[in-house]
Parts: sequence; C-alpha cells; structure tokens
Amino acid sequence: MIASKLPNVGTTIFTTMSQLAAQTGALNLSQGFPDFDSPLALREAVARHVMEGHNQYSPMTGLPALREQVAAKLARCYGAQVNPDLEITITPGATEAIFCAVQAVVRPGDEVIVFDPVYDSYEPSVELAGGRCVHVQLTPDTFAIDWDQLTAALSPRTRLIMLNSPHNPSGALISSEDLVRLADLVEQRGLYVISDEVYEHLVYDGARHASVLAHPSLYQRAFVVSSFGKTYHVTGWKTGYVVAPPVLSLELRKIHQYVNFCGVTPLQQGLADYMAAHPEHVDELPGFYQAKRDLFCDLLDRSRFTFTRTPGTYFQLVDYSAIRPDLNDVEMSLWLTREHGVASIPISVFYQVPVEGQRLVRLCFAKREDTLRAAAEKLCAI
Ligand code: PMP
Ligand code: GLN
Repeated sequence: MIASKLPNVGTTIFTTMSQLAAQTGALNLSQGFPDFDSPLALREAVARHVMEGHNQYSPMTGLPALREQVAAKLARCYGAQVNPDLEITITPGATEAIFCAVQAVVRPGDEVIVFDPVYDSYEPSVELAGGRCVHVQLTPDTFAIDWDQLTAALSPRTRLIMLNSPHNPSGALISSEDLVRLADLVEQRGLYVISDEVYEHLVYDGARHASVLAHPSLYQRAFVVSSFGKTYHVTGWKTGYVVAPPVLSLELRKIHQYVNFCGVTPLQQGLADYMAAHPEHVDELPGFYQAKRDLFCDLLDRSRFTFTRTPGTYFQLVDYSAIRPDLNDVEMSLWLTREHGVASIPISVFYQVPVEGQRLVRLCFAKREDTLRAAAEKLCAI
C-alpha cells in the first residue's frame, strides 16, 4: 500500500452526483455545466483552426492573440492596464491556474485561509505544496466574510488568502469595501491572494463584479483566475487564464511550464477570434443568465423550497427545511435524484465543519428552458 499524499481525497461530489444522475436518468442540475452549446461562430472558428493545421504547441504563456484579447477585456471591464506578455498566462483550465498559483507561493508549514463552503480543488493544492488550510466560515445566511473570524484565524504563518467571488456554491458577491479591507490586511502582513473569479461575468440585478483587478494595490499581491469554460459555455474545453503582476507571473510560469507547458492551441486560436469579433458576448451574459435564473425561480416560487434569488454564478441554493428536515443535505440530494428525478449538489461537503441544521442544496440553472421547466415541475410536485 502506498502512503497517500492526499489521504482525505476521494471521488468528488461532482463526479458522484453526475454519475448518479446518468444511472437513474435524473435531470442533472448537479455538476455545473450548460446543457446548451456555445456560439456557433466560436465552434466554427476552432474547427477552422484545426483544419488549417494550427495543431502544434502554443507558446508556454499562451497564444499572444488570446492574451491581447484578455488584456483588452480587462481594460474594458475593470479599467485594468495589464501587460499581456508579462502578466497574463493561459492555462488548461482555471483548476490548473489555481494549482500553479498555490505552488508558486505556499511553502511547507505555511497556512492558507480558505472560506467555507470552499471549492473542492483548493485544499488538495495547498496540501501538495506542504501547506495547511485554515478554514473560516462565511456567514451562514448571507455567505459574507466574517471579518472577526478572519482576523482571529490569521497567524504569523499565514501566507495566502484564497477568495472566490462570485462564490460557488452560494452565488454571493464580495463587495468593493471587502476588497479595500483585504488590501490593508494583505499589505500589513505581507500576504498573497488568489482570487478565483471564474464566474466574473455572471452577476445579476445590475450589480457589478468587484474584481481584484480593479484594486491596484491588492492586485500587486494577487493572482486573478478566470475560465473561458464558464464565459463561453465550454466547460469541457478546460481553458482558463491567470493574471498576476510580472514577478508573480514569472514564478507561476516556472510551475505551469512543467505541469502542462501550454494550453490547447486551436481552442486558444478560436477563442481569440471570437473575442475579437464579439466583445459584446460578455456584456450580454448577465442578461442571458438572469433570464434563466428568473424563469427557474418564478417556477420554483410554487414549490415548498425556499430561497433568495442568487446574485451571481449559475447556481441557486434552495432550502428544503419545509420538505424533509429529517434528511441531511447529502441524503436529500440522493433522495431528490432517486425519488424525484432531479440531481443537485449538497453543500455540506464544502465545509470542514458543516453548519448545524443547514438544509441547503445547490441547483445549476445553466440549462435550456425545457430542462428548467421539466426540473421545476418535478420539484414543485414534492
Ligand atoms: N473555481 C470554481 C469556483 C469553479 O466553480 C470552477 C468550475 N468548475 C473552477 C474553479 C474550475 O474551472 P475550470 O473548469 O476552468 O478548471
Ligand atoms: N465547478 C463545477 C461545479 O461547481 C464542477 C467542476 C468539476 O466537476 N470538477 O459544479
């Protein structure tokens, strides 16, 4: 028997629930991915590049044309002036970007602050770097940062804070005031920040995403991560990017070049073409997904689930206390899938210590209208 370096890691909840949905024929509102396709012009652009022979390695840092498009988008959306050659790295997915950023700054014995419920890839990345996660719970109802708890969790060994906004699974948004407070803390204590902003364009009701890229002093100590998978409805393309100041990008790239070397060339080519031709795509995304959220929530208003409409991401948390308070959320997700044909994600699995009495499951509404209507019908019948 090999002594595992990750003894606590098993099959992820996303794999477990998607497999159960497939086995039982349930509608899969668990793992976060769209059941509709990306824009035709984007797929055609990738196909064209494959056929034209753009099938060899791209530069290690990513295709220049794509890095330039990302820089143009960041200037337009956040007023950020970043150098595409020195500060933007294209990675095979946000997951790799996060892994490499963690390896770049975390050393054995370091502590890393993560906020529960926390995305599942963070802790294994920290552990493989020899670090230890210190879990700080977000406020149970609003999923906001509890500053007292955060301050209490800091120690001389704290090296990194990992943020995620818009937040998976709650949809909560960090505020610009939070970022200002964080900038003070980071500067005083010489910390680093990884800001996972993969849902940056999925923000509703006229709110604006507070990006670390819009805070020049915080950005000096930060890696900002995003994913084309979420923005262009292509989660299976596993293509993302990380933006960091030149000194941090240099360290990240030393790792990225040996974890993977580069992203997939024709995907980068197609994304660069599409971004150049359709800069409006990102401006239209909030309306596109807000319509889906509102359709789904309007339908669920007739159910016994209770909820507050999510301010961001393509996830809606629903409280099932009025239906099966006797079940914990893992049992509830299994029951909903097997007995009622709708797969969801229990959120307690993203906590070190689950919140006593919390009765929430996560439903993904990145789905076609017919899927959302069919799922809502099943959920309203319970
Ligand atoms: N962070 C969060 C919060 C996510 O929800 C996801 C989505 N799967 C990722 C990172 C990973 O993105 P990617 O699929 O581009 O690796
Ligand atoms: N991020 C996706 C979600 O939250 C899942 C990604 C995965 O399966 N690893 O549902």
